[in-house]
Amino acid sequence: MITKDLIFNKIAYFCAKIELNNMVFLTRRARFNAAHKLWVEEWSAEKNKEIFDKCANENFHGHNYTLFVTVKGDPDPVTGMLINAKHLSKIIKEEVTEKLDHKNLNLDIDFIPKGMQTTCENLAILIWQIIEPKLQQCQLHCVKLQETENIYTEYFG
Ligand SMILES: [Zn+2]
Repeated sequence: MITKDLIFNKIAYFCAKIELNNMVFLTRRARFNAAHKLWVEEWSAEKNKEIFDKCANENFHGHNYTLFVTVKGDPDPVTGMLINAKHLSKIIKEEVTEKLDHKNLNLDIDFIPKGMQTTCENLAILIWQIIEPKLQQCQLHCVKLQETENIYTEYFG
């Protein structure tokens, strides 16, 4: 039986589908290398090692990070672009990778609060907070940060 609710649900479904279909996504990849240490002062060295493994190394250790920044929106009718890829690269480079590359994430970075665990999860959130206000003509969709070949975090704001 066709009810009013069913019709409204169908309409809502198709509207959501149209909205997604019209959306274009663009991803820029960037790389940086940095040192960090994951440690909880209140815990014993054994417990820190057990929980954080290699990331609890006493004198820090490094990762080769890969950052993926995905933006979304409608392409500009004249240029056909969501955002000029050069402009997006410049934002990522100047605001994030140049500041983090070959640095100690626990000690050297002004936008990383002292004492914050420098996990992939926390870094992805911070990177979102830095990049998001710099975008005008498109929206930030995802910050993906890969710490190792097998582990990455995705943050959608
Ligand atoms: Zn680590």
